[in-house]
Amino acid sequence: MAGAWLTSTATCTAYRVVCGGTPDAPGVRVPVAGRVFAERVGWLADLVRGMADQVIAAQWSDADLAVLAGGVGVDGRRLPASGWMALRRLGWGAVAAAGVVVSDRVRRIAEEEAARALRLGCHRRAVVAALLATWPADPFARTDGEWSGLRAALPEGTDTATIRNRTRQITAYVGVHGRLPAGLCELEGPPVVARQVSLAAADRQQVVVDRVDDRMIRVWSQLPTCAAPVSYRDWLWHAFDVALPASVPAGVKVCSPTVRPRDGRVRVDLPWQAPHTPPPVDGHTRGLGVDWGVNTLLTATVADLEGGCVVVDGRPLRFDATGVSAKLVRLRRHREHLNTKADHLSRLRDGRPADAPAEAALAGKLACLEAEHAAVCARIRHLNHAVAWSAARWLVDHATGVGATVVYVENLATLEAGGRSRSLNRRLSGAVRGTVFTAVAHLAAQAGIAVVTVPARGTSSGCPRCGGAVTHVKTPDRCVAGYRWAICSCGLSLDRDHAAAQRIAARGLANQTKTRPDRSGQAAIHAATDTPVRRRARRSTPAATTRPVRDRRKTAPTRKQTRPTGAKTSRLLPLRRQVPAPTEPPPGTGGKRPAGRTPQETNPPGPVRQVPHTVPTTARRHPHRVRGAILGRGFHRHVHATPITHQDGGTGTMSAPLRIT
Ligand SMILES: [Zn+2]
Repeated sequence: MAGAWLTSTATCTAYRVVCGGTPDAPGVRVPVAGRVFAERVGWLADLVRGMADQVIAAQWSDADLAVLAGGVGVDGRRLPASGWMALRRLGWGAVAAAGVVVSDRVRRIAEEEAARALRLGCHRRAVVAALLATWPADPFARTDGEWSGLRAALPEGTDTATIRNRTRQITAYVGVHGRLPAGLCELEGPPVVARQVSLAAADRQQVVVDRVDDRMIRVWSQLPTCAAPVSYRDWLWHAFDVALPASVPAGVKVCSPTVRPRDGRVRVDLPWQAPHTPPPVDGHTRGLGVDWGVNTLLTATVADLEGGCVVVDGRPLRFDATGVSAKLVRLRRHREHLNTKADHLSRLRDGRPADAPAEAALAGKLACLEAEHAAVCARIRHLNHAVAWSAARWLVDHATGVGATVVYVENLATLEAGGRSRSLNRRLSGAVRGTVFTAVAHLAAQAGIAVVTVPARGTSSGCPRCGGAVTHVKTPDRCVAGYRWAICSCGLSLDRDHAAAQRIAARGLANQTKTRPDRSGQAAIHAATDTPVRRRARRSTPAATTRPVRDRRKTAPTRKQTRPTGAKTSRLLPLRRQVPAPTEPPPGTGGKRPAGRTPQETNPPGPVRQVPHTVPTTARRHPHRVRGAILGRGFHRHVHATPITHQDGGTGTMSAPLRIT
């Protein structure tokens, strides 16, 4: 992110394909059908994948990963940053299968894919080594000492989701083998690279990117015309057009894309770069403090630094994804169910002779289950991705709207694992938080807003006003031990996440001078002292001086409506009446009509009036809130987010519609 350029990726589709000639010398160009083009890209991807998998399998050992992680070649020189060059320096180059002719550029692409997978493997190896070196007696209940030992050994920026998943993986290994694994390579097999072609590793002999106009790119690439090319005559130059999506501004620098064949089409991941000056990490006077909630994905608060004091306005900003969480829980449950079924069927199949009559039917069922499993996994992945980017967009739009120049978030790496295990599957997973963080960092950089992490320790357990320990209760009026509400002896009574967001904002604003980039380049405050937060005094209006104003401050939640006596007391019964009220008020109700439509509204006399089918007013005013509802799709119906307002505030107008990029 740091540096003079900010790189983003636009996902597009290739179309209008021609083949023949070369990029520089026009020759006879023949149009190519999309399906044929996708097949040829698929052949190239398979060639690349075959070579890359071979390199990875050959080097998948603890010793080789250690060499690559060390970053020094056999000749004592530093390894180049470029992946394929590093592998060539180490003598780990890719070789094509016997009889298959590929150019040196194609081998480079395969080496680049292999180098990326192996470098990821180096990181995983370090994580697994740290976990094994500090393996505790009970891996799922580490003591404070064990946690700090593990944190010291882990690579910077390892989040709790990774720790949990790797701990589970090692525990499963111990369960099978009865001992700890020696390292990553014993714990798992070599990774498989994706079916894609990263053209960025090649040069002008394999790929040429031309700009047609502001909105159109033409990409040239050499592709094989059969699955196993035996000479260079089986390779032809192909050109395809890519229309830039509206999110890409005009005049940006476009780089070599990555192409992926998919469903008979070719998807193009097109990186583009815009000049970027990293925002300053200190000197801020207005910032947003953000807390990772449980069901409420994000809770934020606006905070100002006024004369050394941190002042908040007391208005929480919420991105509540409870509905999406519930959907994700249902999907995960369905995935587990499919897994169980598939396991059962494969056990049945394995126990039978191969020529059993029901064998074909069983295989068909298994294939069907596998396809559905893959679809459910993809749905979960896409939903996680969509909610994460939507939340990030919402947060950055809020920061822009209120004129904040910095966003403070808890450092995911220092966020304590555990918590309430009962609700664990109800919350969005730690991986989603990681995606939200990446998305916030990216979108904030585009908007010129700094993102700084602060230590997570004690953000929810301390009082933002006095710094003392808070008590967590169920609700402000039910002082029994709970989770949602924080109360303090100093008089604080706030939503738990809102209180934490205030504390995070104060931690960030008051410790700005301690901001340092960490090893991954992310601006971070590593040690912070807490400062008390002051609530901004309410603006006094002229009317307030002339007549007494009702104290509208909310000290307790709205009381639940009591059910009418004698009514059926089912939990499913709605609290409000949904039938028209009787014309005459029932005796003893003092003439007060119960809730519900009045009889006059129910059936107006005369012909039925045709209601013109238009977009409701609310939709025009808040397109992001109801867009999904109007179209009848998307998860916007299930996400409740505080609308974004302008800096002058209070008008309810949108600064930018919530959009998913
Ligand atoms: Zn307090």
